[in-house]
Amino acid sequence: MRIHAIQTGTVRVKTAQVQGRRHGLIDVFLDPNWTDWVPTYAWAIEHPDGVIIVDSGQGTHLLEHSRELNPYVRWEVAFQIQREQEIGPQLRSLGIGLRDIKKVVLTHLHMDHDGGLAHFPDSEILVPAGELAKARGWLGRLRGYLPHRWPTWFDPKPVDLPTEPFGPFTHSQRLTKEGDIVAVATPGHTPDHISVVVQDGDAAIFLAGDASYNQALMLSGTVDGVSADRKVAKATLAAIKRFTQSRPTIYLPTHDPESGTRLAQRQYA
Ligand SMILES: [Zn+2]
Repeated sequence: MRIHAIQTGTVRVKTAQVQGRRHGLIDVFLDPNWTDWVPTYAWAIEHPDGVIIVDSGQGTHLLEHSRELNPYVRWEVAFQIQREQEIGPQLRSLGIGLRDIKKVVLTHLHMDHDGGLAHFPDSEILVPAGELAKARGWLGRLRGYLPHRWPTWFDPKPVDLPTEPFGPFTHSQRLTKEGDIVAVATPGHTPDHISVVVQDGDAAIFLAGDASYNQALMLSGTVDGVSADRKVAKATLAAIKRFTQSRPTIYLPTHDPESGTRLAQRQYA
């Protein structure tokens, strides 16, 4: 199996979002300090059954975020991306055509993860069911999602991970017949957030989405500033850490500046 790290531009947020403080989102708005620009990765897994895409990255429409009504979207996040950095053109230059893609899995529906959906008009798209319910319509827009930016044809398959233990995770679902690619519930950053684990021989590649913004924050159990339930988020970080201690694991958060190198050099957590 081969996994490609596809960087779809960069993003920056307030420092209080990455490392949560006492009052969560309020602290994010009050924080004058921005993080460095960090990458936004999407992933393409070349599996014998077909390519599985995990997250779709950013799209150039995000450059217009300051016109959105939601105050978080408007003021608390900024993007850099050019059209050829979107996932579609990058897949083409990797030689991966739309027909090669078996499915697209989204860890959650935040705008830097669903921003490349327009490139997958003919693919089966899997989205956590609870995430889809929260992101839809006007209420979704109030919550900071961008459902009005979804392609008109967007009609994903909602997935409700069954109670099926996978290591320390209570809910999981196989994404391939062999069970070598598994979606696991990693609630916290959003209540229905999922991650994708690729089992490659003795090693695991953990596509973490925004379960943590980088590896150090996962290892230290530091909850971010947008998790609604800090206890749940902390339990998820602890579960991920236990998982990384149970087998050699390459841990790959979407926005970790080291994720690309860690995958290329197979560095374990
Ligand atoms: Zn997110």
